[in-house]
Amino acid sequence: MRKNIVAGNWKMNKTLQEGIELAKDLQTALSGKKVKCDVIVCTPFIHLASVNAVIDGQTVKLGAENCADKASGAYTGEVSAAMVASTGAKYVILGHSERRAYYGETGAILKEKVKLALENQLTPIFCIGEVLAERESGKQNEVVKKQIEESLFDLSAEDFGKVVLAYEPVWAIGTGKTASSAQAQEMHAFIRQTLKAQYGAAVADNTSILYGGSCNAANAKELFANPDVDGGLIGGAALKTDTFLPIIEAF
Ligand code: PEP
Repeated sequence: MRKNIVAGNWKMNKTLQEGIELAKDLQTALSGKKVKCDVIVCTPFIHLASVNAVIDGQTVKLGAENCADKASGAYTGEVSAAMVASTGAKYVILGHSERRAYYGETGAILKEKVKLALENQLTPIFCIGEVLAERESGKQNEVVKKQIEESLFDLSAEDFGKVVLAYEPVWAIGTGKTASSAQAQEMHAFIRQTLKAQYGAAVADNTSILYGGSCNAANAKELFANPDVDGGLIGGAALKTDTFLPIIEAF
């Protein structure tokens, strides 16, 4: 059965010391608590090894926010999937809309990143989602389907089964504007239908599809109650245990 997951995306926030403190704080807050979802923190590259040392990898799991589209070599400033895995991280966010919009990451580049992540036993948390103009012109399904097709549909069913999806309408990220519960469910059901057509019912049913976009303590319960919403990818509210914990406890 698919897992419920709440993953935090720290983005470019927190010094190393602040990040270690936040991870420690979250680990302590969750220790001994029975939660009904996997909890992941996705941190900047330089935090990974140090954060890994202060979490137990079960109560709190570790992920990166990106990895390179090349395996190794003369790519100054890049960090490979193998390097990410060597820190103890088990997850990697790929295709975040900020990477697509500000760093020119195309579907073809992301396809390479997904492949390298899987080869290095990292679970991709693969982000998809439409911009406001696409939603307003009713093109959201078409856009999301294309994003999935161009980066993921060359995977075998076995490999696709290792991927987590995150639907993040771009107009809801960091804006305080959340997709309504009905909009989220409608898109998640469409995504699951798309997966079913490609890989069959078992793979579609077993894929965790997270919602992301201004998810917080006030709206998480309603969003997560939808049958096709399996948790959240959380930006701003993941930067403090006080705001992240209630989202985890929404399950
Ligand atoms: C994100 O960046 O993945 C995100 C969902 O951000 P926020 O929760 O701040 O909207």
